[in-house]
Amino acid sequence: MNRRDFLKAAGTNSAALAISGSGAVGATGRGQAPAIRTTAGTGITADVAVIGAGVFGGWTALCLREMGHSVVLIDQYGPGNSKSSSGGEVRGMRAAYGDREYYTRWAIAAMEQWKIREAEFGTKLYFESGVLGVSRTQPAQTVRSIFDRLKFPYEVLTREELTKRWPQIATEDSAEVVGFYQPRGGTLKAHASCVAVASAFQKKGGRFVLAKASLAPTSQGRLQRVRLSSGETVSAGTFIFAAGPWLLTMFPELLDRKLRVAKSGHGMVGVPPELSRDYSYPVLPNTNAMLPNVDGLGLAVMMTVGTTPVDPDTHDRVPTPEAKAEVLARTAQWFPALKGQPFINAHVCQLDSTVDANFIVDRHPGFDDVWIAGGGSDHGFKFGPVTGDYVAHRVVGRDTQPELAPIFRIKSQTFDVTASRNPAVPALIE
Ligand SMILES: Cc1cc2nc3c(=O)[nH]c(=O)nc-3n(C[C@H](O)[C@H](O)[C@H](O)COP(=O)(O)OP(=O)(O)OC[C@H]3O[C@@H](n4cnc5c(N)ncnc54)[C@H](O)[C@@H]3O)c2cc1C
Repeated sequence: MNRRDFLKAAGTNSAALAISGSGAVGATGRGQAPAIRTTAGTGITADVAVIGAGVFGGWTALCLREMGHSVVLIDQYGPGNSKSSSGGEVRGMRAAYGDREYYTRWAIAAMEQWKIREAEFGTKLYFESGVLGVSRTQPAQTVRSIFDRLKFPYEVLTREELTKRWPQIATEDSAEVVGFYQPRGGTLKAHASCVAVASAFQKKGGRFVLAKASLAPTSQGRLQRVRLSSGETVSAGTFIFAAGPWLLTMFPELLDRKLRVAKSGHGMVGVPPELSRDYSYPVLPNTNAMLPNVDGLGLAVMMTVGTTPVDPDTHDRVPTPEAKAEVLARTAQWFPALKGQPFINAHVCQLDSTVDANFIVDRHPGFDDVWIAGGGSDHGFKFGPVTGDYVAHRVVGRDTQPELAPIFRIKSQTFDVTASRNPAVPALIE
């Protein structure tokens, strides 16, 4: 059954496909995406069990369901929850990836998919106001060649053109700077997207369970089942662990020093009413260092909040006074008219980074029936619909891009533990 046929079937026979549940969690509180139903479940069985309803797991579960498989999606706190790396308000969408053309191709495909899916879900998730890079040197020829080949539009702007178009951005009077503007790209809603994806998954007959999954004793190299915190078990033909930063806790022998989990986050800065338009979608692009105000959430500024590894279950999410001050100082430096504006919100979570910043989509070497999908590093969100489709096809043996498998393999290299763990905060002018 292809996706169109499946959607048709799901739409015309939704009563038969839907699995009812009790309780409601994951409502955004912002009145857009529908609530996620939870199911207690006893001795659950499915073709595929996906552990983790962040951007990797949610989209994978949805795509597998649309391919016609019975799928159970399990999350200990809920889709895009506040402890997860997919939580919070917003994430950036961009296509420039140096010479890693596979990510550029995926980003372009993902931009289309987000538009199609937000229309299907009936909630706005993708705010396309473009991406602006500001630099003291000309944009890399590699990126321009890839964009040219893929017919991905961009403009190279002089400092005068840049200042004329976005006078709100300080480009430093003394510096000769160049703008590299891509009209496609922008900002995505984070938590809201995960809720919308999980909700669509349920509407199409997928089963969502709010519980923590633990590995059960295994035999002969197959996992076969996981235990839930409720005491029940889930048996499946295939397990996909899309547990983000928790992958390190679940598989320490496999991922020690191959996955690094460090605090990170966004500080949200207020915008004065008379300048609201200038700092919001669709006027202000994603500048890599900051995301524009969407839906009144404020300007999202990357925050340096920690330097040491953290436990995603227990670390404190309140930004330090120093982190807040730094966010406000950088905002005032780049957008002088915002000097004195308040810090209005924050989302502190963690990055789960791989050694080479490539994702992990690989079979667990110890279990035939276990896949690992994650390692999103600081760029995994934007690809959600494409990653989900890719992982879904890989695990059912229908990989259409075999050249990518080595890139997403668990690498043998490890992090240098003596190196600084301080996550880099992107600069406006590079
Ligand atoms: C501050 C910040 C800014 C970022 N900016 C961008 C950006 O601009 N663009 C971009 O593309 N990406 C960005 N990223 C990266 C992106 O957000 C992450 O790569 C991505 O969200 C990771 O998703 P995930 O599904 O792997 O992990 P998560 O979102 O953490 O999901 C894992 C889920 O697994 C669940 N789980 C774990 N263990 C269990 C268990 N035992 N049982 C049940 N459930 C379990 C958790 O509750 C969690 O919900 C940013 C990340 C951060 C932190």
